[in-house]
Amino acid sequence: MQRGPLVEINIACLKHNFDTIGRLTGKVPVLAVVKADAYGHGAVRIATLLEEMKVHAFSVAFNSEAVELREAGIKKPILVFFDPPDIDEILSYDLTPVLVNERAAGELSALSLKRGKRVKVHVTIDTGMGRLGFLSLRDVNALREVAALKGIQVTGVMSHFSEADLLDRTFAELQLKRFLEVRKELFPLFGGCLWHMSNSAAVLSYPDAHLDMVRPGLMLYGCDPFKRKNSSLLPVMTVRCKILEVRKVPTGTSVSYGRTFVTRRDSLIGVIGLGYSDGYPRALSNKGRVIVNGQVAPIVGRICMDLTMVDLTDITGLTNEYLWRPYNCIILGKEGDVEITADELAAYADTISYEILTSLGRSKHKCVTNVSSAASAVTS
Ligand SMILES: *Cc1c(COP(=O)(O)O)cnc(C)c1O
Repeated sequence: MQRGPLVEINIACLKHNFDTIGRLTGKVPVLAVVKADAYGHGAVRIATLLEEMKVHAFSVAFNSEAVELREAGIKKPILVFFDPPDIDEILSYDLTPVLVNERAAGELSALSLKRGKRVKVHVTIDTGMGRLGFLSLRDVNALREVAALKGIQVTGVMSHFSEADLLDRTFAELQLKRFLEVRKELFPLFGGCLWHMSNSAAVLSYPDAHLDMVRPGLMLYGCDPFKRKNSSLLPVMTVRCKILEVRKVPTGTSVSYGRTFVTRRDSLIGVIGLGYSDGYPRALSNKGRVIVNGQVAPIVGRICMDLTMVDLTDITGLTNEYLWRPYNCIILGKEGDVEITADELAAYADTISYEILTSLGRSKHKCVTNVSSAASAVTS
């Protein structure tokens, strides 16, 4: 058995979430965001599956992620959101860079002309994210100059919401308004471009922002950016680990560093082979829960680097046969009626589901399932 948790990827749930996007957006093409190793789910595997599901394009953060996908045989367009463009990689791997300023555009155009090429690019407009891009209110003339460059061809224009996951949509509306103003200003110069702005939150709640293409990430993986418990999305990732040992200990036994938990009855304490070095937040100490044999077991004491203790005293059915199973403890996922979501772990750890997925997803040990029962249970 390899070190670390087993990350299980459910294809049926991925398909369900992808179809959900299709239902919400109609015929609008879907660009799947697979940066950060597809939010910890494995970019090559997820992109391969999504290509079969007729995704329009992909995007990643950095050039190296795009190269990895091409070398694995991914054929659809790949947008590189953040890295400065690299002319050699663009040409050898057919990548689509996203340009963030006039200088990057000028340099790329010059290099591309030298090779006798015209490279397709998208540009990004900062309408209120305050991160990267041409400022929507200031840089319209710069964009006109970019459009005139001979070595590049602008085929897409994007912007990114900074708080589309709030119920109060005031700022999102302002951002969309700014984006549409730029589009109007630049028409017909950028007339044939794909204008795109919608992350998962906007796909789910802001149809006016769907425009020419949508760019969901999180919802593909089954998490709701609004953290709603009744969302129809299905979590793609299940994370399992192993109970290494079950110990019978008397009342008054302190557990783990700092002795923050002391048993108040004769107890069965399970020792799990997983800790904060596996991306399991230490903040779950004395707060989180795991699933053992379809039942909830609370985490007791501090989470260690490689070990976590859970109280198994009230768990039934802990036969030797059960305990011999290789991955007999679920830390993220569902069994029977019990479910532990990324949002739950994120709440304890004072973070967001995105960080839980990318942290636990770093495990090298991944496998695939295709259990559609979970999917049909929710859709029917
Ligand atoms: C990560 C990212 C997305 C996807 O956001 P989700 O909230 O995961 O849907 C879309 N666009 C850009 C520019 C991003 O960086």
